[in-house]
Amino acid sequence: MKSKSNKLTEEQIRPKLLKKKIKKNFYHDLKYLVSRKKSFEKVSCPGCQNKNNKKYLEKNKINYLICPKCKTFFVSPRPPEKLLEEFYKQSKVYEFFNNYIFPQTEKIRSKKIAKPRVDNILKLSKKYKLLKPSILEVGPGYGTFCSLANRTKFFSSVDAVEPSPEGADNCRKKRINVYEETIENLKIKKKFDIVVNFEVIEHLFSPKKFILSMKKFLKKKGFMILTCPNGMGFDIQILKEKSDSIDHEHLNYFNPLSIEKLFESCNFKILEIFTPGQLDVDLVRNKILDKKFNLDSNFFLNDIIIDNYDTKGNEFQKYLINNRLSSNMWVVAQKK
Ligand SMILES: [Zn+2]
Repeated sequence: MKSKSNKLTEEQIRPKLLKKKIKKNFYHDLKYLVSRKKSFEKVSCPGCQNKNNKKYLEKNKINYLICPKCKTFFVSPRPPEKLLEEFYKQSKVYEFFNNYIFPQTEKIRSKKIAKPRVDNILKLSKKYKLLKPSILEVGPGYGTFCSLANRTKFFSSVDAVEPSPEGADNCRKKRINVYEETIENLKIKKKFDIVVNFEVIEHLFSPKKFILSMKKFLKKKGFMILTCPNGMGFDIQILKEKSDSIDHEHLNYFNPLSIEKLFESCNFKILEIFTPGQLDVDLVRNKILDKKFNLDSNFFLNDIIIDNYDTKGNEFQKYLINNRLSSNMWVVAQKK
């Protein structure tokens, strides 16, 4: 499939050939977790702490509940913190990403993912009149965002917190000031104007604890900006179990309403929540073209996604973005 103009496509960041190779590693990781199911712990809703939740779906022997109050869906019972730590240390998928996917797709990821993130942060900083803000990224991965942020010279400082030795090393190679530690155990005096994290919160046992840990390093009225999946977004809701976004690594699927509740319970004021994701239609379309999913007799969606994709697909994606219905979400919150 040819990509149109500047549009982001799934193929650019997750090439099919590499995706095939990743399968073996994926099942290795999944087996590691599922074979330790006995140690999993039940949790209440990670969005609003509601205790009475309903069964939502099951995938790969992992159980998902949905909160009837805020529509967050989440893994419960789930791997406890200690097990998650061990899991990510031994993860074959992460090893594969670090050794193959990231190096091979860094250019395109930098342009299509990290650059728009930096641009968005710059735009928001200007909008909220932040002059020369200091910024801390929690979970920098390959260090691409920090490295681009450094280059803008807009920030007074760019720091990162990364517990894994490989990740921290990647950052050092890019001359990023990195603290090799978890945010929960980080002990520094410095406070920041902005703390960001991208696609981290959905992986965590306790999102609330994570937000409160980050909050300690924010100045008064400081900004926390994060991205995560919107569980009520288009491709996730259409594909459900067939969605690659629903996997053993992702424990929490917030939505615009529930993430607001979570931040408010941590004493933040939500400034804005938006869903600029570009991939929803592409993801559903690719699943159909790969014959892994079909819309059966849903003529309405077939018309948009398959039959008239060239004329309607883009417009539909724009509609999803403008109505907070895309499955990629941004949250901008301010410490009270
Ligand atoms: Zn809830």
